[in-house]
Amino acid sequence: MRYRADAVVPCDGSGRVLRPGVVETSGDTVTRVGTLDSTGDGPPMREVRVDGALLPGLVNVHCHSPMTLFRGSGENLPLDRWLTEVLWPREAHLTEDDVFWGMTVAAAELLRFGVTTSCEAYFHEDALADAVVAAGSRAVITPGVLQLPGAAPDDRWWETRTDEIVDFHARRQGDQGRIEVGFAPHAAYTVPLPGLVSIAAAARGLDALFHIHLAETEEECVRFASQHGGSTPAVLADAGVFDGRVLAAHSIWLSPDDLTIYRQHDVAVAHCPQSNAKLASGVAPLVEFLDRGIRVGLGTDGPASNNDLDLWEEMRFAALLARIREHDAAALPALSALDLATRGAGLALGRPELGTLAPGSKADMAAIDLADPVFVPWLEDDQLIEHLVWSGSSRLVTDVWVGGRRVVEGGRCMIVDLDRARSEVEARARRLLRAAS
Ligand SMILES: [Zn+2]
Repeated sequence: MRYRADAVVPCDGSGRVLRPGVVETSGDTVTRVGTLDSTGDGPPMREVRVDGALLPGLVNVHCHSPMTLFRGSGENLPLDRWLTEVLWPREAHLTEDDVFWGMTVAAAELLRFGVTTSCEAYFHEDALADAVVAAGSRAVITPGVLQLPGAAPDDRWWETRTDEIVDFHARRQGDQGRIEVGFAPHAAYTVPLPGLVSIAAAARGLDALFHIHLAETEEECVRFASQHGGSTPAVLADAGVFDGRVLAAHSIWLSPDDLTIYRQHDVAVAHCPQSNAKLASGVAPLVEFLDRGIRVGLGTDGPASNNDLDLWEEMRFAALLARIREHDAAALPALSALDLATRGAGLALGRPELGTLAPGSKADMAAIDLADPVFVPWLEDDQLIEHLVWSGSSRLVTDVWVGGRRVVEGGRCMIVDLDRARSEVEARARRLLRAAS
């Protein structure tokens, strides 16, 4: 298939804008990206005309998407009270079907925003995977390891859960070519160190992603250091927890030594600027991460804490916050901000075939309406990148493909029955509220 667009923004690290441009695919894979006049003498292809710009599908590296079920609940609370008073009591009553419908609504939201891959940390992972597969999207599913209120006392409770995830990996890894499975111990303050060590070993054994909330609040870091005699990254690195593929969400309260540990162990960061701001957790040292060569991608965090899954907002907010933090109007240029939601996000997940349009990458794409007034004037080709980041938005996404299959057309989800999903989530959210009160 050949997609012919008014512009192609490959997000391949070059900063190029191809105007006009073409993307050729075979099955779920991109085979060629170029300009219109370079189509060559190859065999004739079926052609799709894209009115607008074609970008790779965005990649959201830290999400708890089924928390659409709790959107708007427990507003204005700090993280610890929000978790213990609002969220965990409701999550203790979740069923598989709740998670399926919560994820289904989220998948519709993500896809309509042009986000084709999300890295999910949640429970009831089979239902979550079923919803992703049914919605036509793509996910790295890292089942959560956390003791919810009411669980039976057990000294080594994480072992059973680790076994469940290993079994889930055996059953669902690679499902439909769109599911990857990892592990998500909640945090170093909720899963004891021996648990983290054994979960990390299980993840390493499968070359699976170890996804954890790390250094999110200052209080959590101070308490951990007083209990363990070192910073969270130092203690986890010493214990071997960082020896595999690690993705550390938030990563706000880090010292220069901690950043050195991240670099040495190639720990990637899921940067969640809006969640960090809304929960008053802090501002992560984004520019320092990038200067040190630490892999970084953007995450929205769950829709109960942010409250949407709009990675376009995260892109712009990341750049704004970086400039305030650095007192530098040149900090995080638009091209770098776009990279954090595309190619950089794929690299943060250890998935170089995601978030970019290049030969061998996945045919995950989003078309953007260039006729919108926010793109006027468009004087130089590469100015489109500035426009996308500084004045673009999720509302301009018109069409989305995942693995070459069109899942959004003219702004409408083609696969998800959004009316049904909306009414399911409304009813289930009410039931969970009553159950927890
Ligand atoms: Zn989170």
